[in-house]
Formats: sequence, C-alpha cells, structure tokens
Amino acid sequence: MDARDVVITEVGPRDGLQNTQSFMPTAAKKAWISAEAAAGVPAIEVCSFVPAKLIPQFVDAEEVLAYANSLAGLKPVVLVPNVKGCERALAAGARRIMVPISVSEAHSMSNVRKTTTQAIEDFARMADLVKVQAQRAQLVGACSTAFGCSLQGAVAEADVLRVALALRAAGADAISLADTVGYANPEQVKRLFRAVRKAIGEDFPIEAHFHNTRGLGLANALAAYEVGVRRFDSTLGGLGGCPFAPGASGNVVTEDLVFMFESMGVNTGIDLGKLIEVRRTAFAALPEAELYGHIAKAGLPKGFQPSAQAA
Ligand code: ZN
Repeated sequence: MDARDVVITEVGPRDGLQNTQSFMPTAAKKAWISAEAAAGVPAIEVCSFVPAKLIPQFVDAEEVLAYANSLAGLKPVVLVPNVKGCERALAAGARRIMVPISVSEAHSMSNVRKTTTQAIEDFARMADLVKVQAQRAQLVGACSTAFGCSLQGAVAEADVLRVALALRAAGADAISLADTVGYANPEQVKRLFRAVRKAIGEDFPIEAHFHNTRGLGLANALAAYEVGVRRFDSTLGGLGGCPFAPGASGNVVTEDLVFMFESMGVNTGIDLGKLIEVRRTAFAALPEAELYGHIAKAGLPKGFQPSAQAA
C-alpha cells in the first residue's frame, strides 16, 4: 500500500490562484495539476466553488475538478464557502471537500457575512447533503484564523476547541487548523494541536495549513509534525501572497516542505527533482506571479538522499 509517512496536499491551484490577479488558463491549470500528480503529490486542492462573479479565477471549477478526477492515483480536494457551493461541488463529483469556518467572529463576518455559529449550522447542512450520497464524499472542517486574526488579533484557544468540537459533532470527517494570516509560532502550534487532539479524541484526523507570511511556515510544520500531525497543506513556489499585504509571501513552499521531510527520512512519496521541475514549467502562464522558496534556487545538496521510497 502507500508507504508515505506524511500526506502533503498541494493547495496552489486554490489558495495560490485565489490571490493571483490574472486568470490562469484552464489548460495551464490542468498541466500544473497533472505534472504535480506525476511527481507523486498525492492530493491537490484544485479549485474553489465560489461564485465566478466573486472570484473569476474559479469560473472553470467544474472542468478542472473533472480533469483532476480523471488522473489515476490523485485525490483531488475542493474548497466550498457555503451550502450552494457544496451542492455544486457534489454535482461536479467532488470526493473531498474543505469548508473553511473562521474561528474569529470578525473574520467570519467580513469573509462570509455570517457568525461562526451560523457557519457551523451551514456545515451541518452540508454534512446532511453528503450523508445521503451513495458514495459519500469526505467533509473537512477547516478552522481558519485558528492561530490569530488580522482583524481581531489574538484568537482564544477555547474558541478553537469549541469550533473543532462543533464541527465534529456536525459530521466532519477531519479537522484542519489553519494559520490563515501567518501569525502562528511553533510553541503555539504544539500547544493548540495537543489541546485540540485531547478535546476531540486521539484518533480523529487533524491536519495543518500554514502560511509563511512571517517566515515561520516550515518551523510551524515541523512543530506540528512533532506533535503527531501527518497531513499538511502547501503551495508550489509558495504561491499565494495576501492582496492586503503587498510583498508578503504565501503558503508554506511545497518543495521546501518536501525537502525538509525527505532529508529527515520522512517519506512524502514525492519525487523532489520532478517537483522542482514542475515549478519551472507550471507558472509560464502566470509571468507576474511572485515565487518563493529556497530549495529550487539553491539546488539539492550534493549526495542528497531522499527517504526510503526512492531507494
Ligand atoms: Zn490558506
């Protein structure tokens, strides 16, 4: 079966492109997705089912998901902001659905014009939709602003626990803790993941979504790994700077995250050389995109040995 020690989900086609000004042509999105899948990336968040008039980048969501579903060995993921988006995603054949729920009330109101409680009620409606499917899709409750919020400031641990438990009760298959604005530090990461795990149960899957806005993305991923997290989101080239913070970098860089794990002997199942090559080709259609990361620029160390999978 799968010998991976960690599952890395590439979220660039969603989280990265969501903040990119120009439209990436559908053919370029497909080429990017298939190239990463061919490099061994096991899961890719391929689109968001938001109304195209809000984010025109995702006008081709149905087509991109159908294409991703056709790739052998790839587990496509989609994001949905509300019940309507969930209906669209299910009709388009989504198998794994991320639903962001802001722990910060201020962020929730500004993002989806709903209180956190209302957003959780919507999540329960989505769980009802999924329940009646013959082949049930997975529903992941993504707790955004779990480590802090640019509107509200600090976010209380008790609020994160309350939202995580409510999402589980509403029918979530997994929970993700997201550092949406890049405020987290490694100590906080360890503390919060431990606390949520304790509250929600040791066996319930919990995932991590970090941004590298303040340079701590990799440190936070390592901290989460050390307390047992085994599923991480990242974007190729760190695509996805925040439109409200010019120059601020985006998500954790996929190729740097893979390099960190592989050099530690942790199997990602990803061919790092091929992945770096994808970075060189995928963004030809987005010449103005700002790319981040170190390993693609510095090159692999002489004599670099990836984890056991390549042997
Ligand atoms: Zn994000």
